[in-house]
Amino acid sequence: MKISARYLLTDSRQLSAPAESAFFAIHGPHHDGHQYIAELYRKGVREFVLEDAAFPVGDFPDAVFHRVPNAIHALQEVAAAHRREFSLPVIGITGSNGKTIVKEWLAQLLAPDFVICKSPKSYNSQIGVPLSVWQLQPADTLGIFEAGISQPGEMARLEAVIRPTIGIFTNIGSAHDEAFADSRQKIREKLALFTQVDTFIYCSDFEEITKELGDFLKPDCQIVGWSKKQPWHSFTTQTNISDAWWENLNHCIAVLRHFGVPDEEIQRRIYALRPVSMRLELKEGINGCYLIDDSYNNDLVGLRMALDFQANQQERPHKVVILSDVLQTGMEEAELYRQIARLLKDKGVNQLIGIGDALRRNQMAFAIPAKFFATTEEFLDRYRTTDFSDSVVLIKGARPFHFEDIVRKLSLRTHGTVLEVNLDALSHNLNYFREKIGRQTKVVVMVKAFAYGSGIEEVANLLQFHRVDYLAVAYPDEGVRLRKAGIRLPIIVLNVSPDSFQQVYDYQLEPEIYSPRIWNELVSFLARQDESVVFPVHLKVDTGMHRLGFEDQHLEWLGGQLQAHPEVRVASIFSHLAAADEEQHDAFTREQIARYTRMSDTIISYLPYRPIRHLANSPGLARFPEARFDMVRLGKGLYGTAVLPEDQENLKTVGTLKTVISQIKQVPATETVGYGRKGVLTRDSVIATIAIGYADGYDRKLSRGTGKVLINGQLCPVVGNICMDMSMVDVTDITCAEGDEVIVFGDFPSIRDLAAWIGTIPYEILTSVGERVRRVFYREGN
Ligand SMILES: *Cc1c(COP(=O)(O)O)cnc(C)c1O
Repeated sequence: MKISARYLLTDSRQLSAPAESAFFAIHGPHHDGHQYIAELYRKGVREFVLEDAAFPVGDFPDAVFHRVPNAIHALQEVAAAHRREFSLPVIGITGSNGKTIVKEWLAQLLAPDFVICKSPKSYNSQIGVPLSVWQLQPADTLGIFEAGISQPGEMARLEAVIRPTIGIFTNIGSAHDEAFADSRQKIREKLALFTQVDTFIYCSDFEEITKELGDFLKPDCQIVGWSKKQPWHSFTTQTNISDAWWENLNHCIAVLRHFGVPDEEIQRRIYALRPVSMRLELKEGINGCYLIDDSYNNDLVGLRMALDFQANQQERPHKVVILSDVLQTGMEEAELYRQIARLLKDKGVNQLIGIGDALRRNQMAFAIPAKFFATTEEFLDRYRTTDFSDSVVLIKGARPFHFEDIVRKLSLRTHGTVLEVNLDALSHNLNYFREKIGRQTKVVVMVKAFAYGSGIEEVANLLQFHRVDYLAVAYPDEGVRLRKAGIRLPIIVLNVSPDSFQQVYDYQLEPEIYSPRIWNELVSFLARQDESVVFPVHLKVDTGMHRLGFEDQHLEWLGGQLQAHPEVRVASIFSHLAAADEEQHDAFTREQIARYTRMSDTIISYLPYRPIRHLANSPGLARFPEARFDMVRLGKGLYGTAVLPEDQENLKTVGTLKTVISQIKQVPATETVGYGRKGVLTRDSVIATIAIGYADGYDRKLSRGTGKVLINGQLCPVVGNICMDMSMVDVTDITCAEGDEVIVFGDFPSIRDLAAWIGTIPYEILTSVGERVRRVFYREGN
């Protein structure tokens, strides 16, 4: 198979340049790529690789279809063939940890000597690796690619794609990996990346690795095994770094020496190294803007990914890009900026601010409204807050342009407390539950209460990207807020009063109907509308929660009403479990499931169609598979808390609440701290005042030692009473400084810890975080 397109596409949402893209229809765990072929064809894609023998290719006359047994393998073979057209040094990196850091550092350290093609972010999967290698172009003089595996047999396929000439095995972790029998099998599987390398670099302290090398490396392969036990260089870093970072740096040093970089030059480059941040952050800016701060990398691939992230932010329709010259691509300048111009146009960017001489020279290439400046200073001088507002602004600049000054100027200033929301953790948790319940079961995600405190627009936007089936909110206002933020998914509103029907109707929200009174109000509301419409509703039955819902005695009446009013369409019938997380009530939960089955069957018997049936919340779907019916309602699980330990282990922390130390003082034992003199000291103490109080949602019950915060890895108890905007903590036993970061909750202590300390549930902790606390949303990579 020969692909003629220039771009390989595996995710229909990342389309740009349709006429030059080939789409690989992959059967994934959550989506079937074949579903998107028609849409992509309409948008202009004309080359497809697909698996389904039954796909009606005849409906798409002028397109090229390649039929293959496995689209992922085909993608790998295409990339492997592309790789074979190049003869250049290629560094292949694998190992349990540090792959991305080593790759990024090598790219920085070797930038003066090579034109480098590298994996974007952590593109190291069966799909990510071929997409990375496909980027190789004739001007490149070095490739650096990372490879990760989750199943036996995968590495050999990646080897054929990367075909490394230099291998780095970063380390081997102890983490238990279900797919592998034991650590030895894992090591052997990873070593399959290195069967053709001429040079192999690793830390020889990993004796388990040393033992296996003979079976994998070529006999003439040069093995560079450095050891922490034997000093082999005297390089230093400017600040102290952890052992793990030292390990990463040592691999890099070995590569630089391999390429013959002189020691004094190596030292100079180590000093110039900057930290690797893979985060793409979305934060609130001035003037109603959202900012995406991406100072991570400055190549075309990085730009493409940041633009995808921007295109997915539908909270604001207007998109602005502030871009510096793109450096070190090895591409001819005019061609580079032609490509960038087309990318911006394809991704729907409305306005460009270009900074740098090369961009200025090539400004004719850009068809969208644009302004150009020679330097960052010039832009900052001329910038007026009226230049753009209510926009999503992507700020992406190469290091020498110090765009952090622009970020600082456009950021909303707030006090030092932020709730960091990890969007990748949210995606991970969603996919975890999707996998658990299977593809055939639909999901409605609960985004009530400001998405459990995590930020409703941004979370909903991510869920829209993942194409969940429904969202649900508590009140119509929340639904309206979502519609205004560009959310097009169907939205269920749980608490609707008759006076909000107009709003519900205007914004195409779907109300929960739970009683005869609310039913009658709805029917008369619909009768008053000019147009005749079919109006979707969700019927709630009460099976034992005794909150909202139709009861048994209403069902016959309701049946008559449904037949008399076909304009009301029952989109779903549901009920709510009262105690699915508590084992002592399991008999009752089973009774609720039985009641629900009976009541919903009764309602369905009056209908000429089948509505969706759903009953289970997060604990219900985990503990009672039989309660999943057609759809589940995912709430707390998405935000990282589960009833079952095996689920909890697999979930990721979504929210981290952070603040800073405002001041540190020495307080003698004879003094007290805070209001009511409640902070009684038993020794001369060092007290830190931190910038969070009960008005931010830091519960006052955490006062006087009940609550603890994490500073520089150590727990510090609260001293005295928590104030409205501040609290005091005891830092006598730790080292810290004013301005240091304070973790209020996150991985540790977790919201479950805080909840246990004050006898509440984790979600009270999360939903209490005040709206005045700034939310920062970020993506970690991948
Ligand atoms: C909040 C809510 C849920 C979600 O519950 P979790 O326990 O957070 O999963 C489900 N259904 C209804 C009706 C709810 O109000």
